[in-house]
Amino acid sequence: MVKLTCDKHIFDFSKENKPALKIKSGDIVEIQTMDCFSGQIQIGSGKLSEIDFNMINPATGPIYIEGASEGDTLKVTIKKIETGSSGVLCTGEGQGVLGDIMEGLTEKIIPLDAVNAGFYGGLNLPLNKMVGVIGVAPKAEGISSRLPGSHGGNMDNKMITEKSIVFFPVFTDGALFALGDVHAAMGDGEVGGSGIEVTAKVTVKLEIVKDIKLVNPYLENKRLISTIASAPSLEEAVRAAVYDMDNLLTTKLPLDSNDRSMLLSQAGNVEICQVINSLKTVRFNFPKWIVEFYG
Ligand code: CA
Ligand code: ZN
Repeated sequence: MVKLTCDKHIFDFSKENKPALKIKSGDIVEIQTMDCFSGQIQIGSGKLSEIDFNMINPATGPIYIEGASEGDTLKVTIKKIETGSSGVLCTGEGQGVLGDIMEGLTEKIIPLDAVNAGFYGGLNLPLNKMVGVIGVAPKAEGISSRLPGSHGGNMDNKMITEKSIVFFPVFTDGALFALGDVHAAMGDGEVGGSGIEVTAKVTVKLEIVKDIKLVNPYLENKRLISTIASAPSLEEAVRAAVYDMDNLLTTKLPLDSNDRSMLLSQAGNVEICQVINSLKTVRFNFPKWIVEFYG
C-alpha cells in the first residue's frame, strides 16, 4: 500500500498544483491528514483567536491518477478512517448559526477513545468519523479548500465515512485528488461551526470510471445512492441535488418524468450537510432497493 504524508498538502484545489504522488487506477493509498487548523490549536495549545486563518483546511495531496482525463469519473472508496487520540472543538462569536448570541471564542481539546468522544461531565458522544474536505481539481481557476463545489471540497457531508463510495467528475488530467478536515463526530448542519477536528489516516481506493458522466459529486453506500450539491442558498442546492438524482435515475428506472417525480417525492430524502459556509451543501438520498427492484 502506498502512503502519503501530510507535509504534502494544499489549501486550494487547482489544476496548477504539482502532484504529490502519482498512482495507477485501482491503487490503494493511506493518506495522513492534519486537522483543519493545521495543528495550530492542538499541537501549539493555541487559541482560536490567535491562529493563522490562511492555514485552515489543509488537504493532503494532490494525487495524480494515471489515465484520468476530463469527462471521466473518479471513484473513491473510503476503506478506513483512523483518527488521533484527541480532537478540537471550536465555536464563538460570529461562528455558526448561534454566532450572534455568543461572546468570545472557545476551543476545547476533546479526548477520543475507539467509540466515543468525551464531553463535559463524563458525557460520551458516539463517534461518527467522516471526511470534511475531499475532491479533485476544478474545471476553471483554483478553489479554496474552505469552499465546497462541483469538484467536492469542503462539503462536510457526514455520509462520507468508512465504507462509503464517493464519485467525482474529473476536470483535468490525473484528476488531482486530495482530502483533509476529518471529523471524529459532527451533526448534520455543523451548526456551531466545527466538528470534532482531528488528525487522521484515511485509506482510500482510487479508480477511474469511463462510463459515468457527472456534473456534481455523488455517493453510494450499502443502502443509498446520494447526490450532493452546493450553492449560495439551501433552496438552490436542493434543486441541484434533486435534478442530479432525477438525471441519474432516468436511465435506471423505466418511468417518465412525472412518475419519477412522484417516486422521488415518496422515497427520496433531502438532508442538510452543512449550513455554515457561504455555499450551503445538501444531499438527496434515494434507496438502492428501489433501483434494484426495477433492475
Ligand atoms: Ca469543514
Ligand atoms: Zn472541519
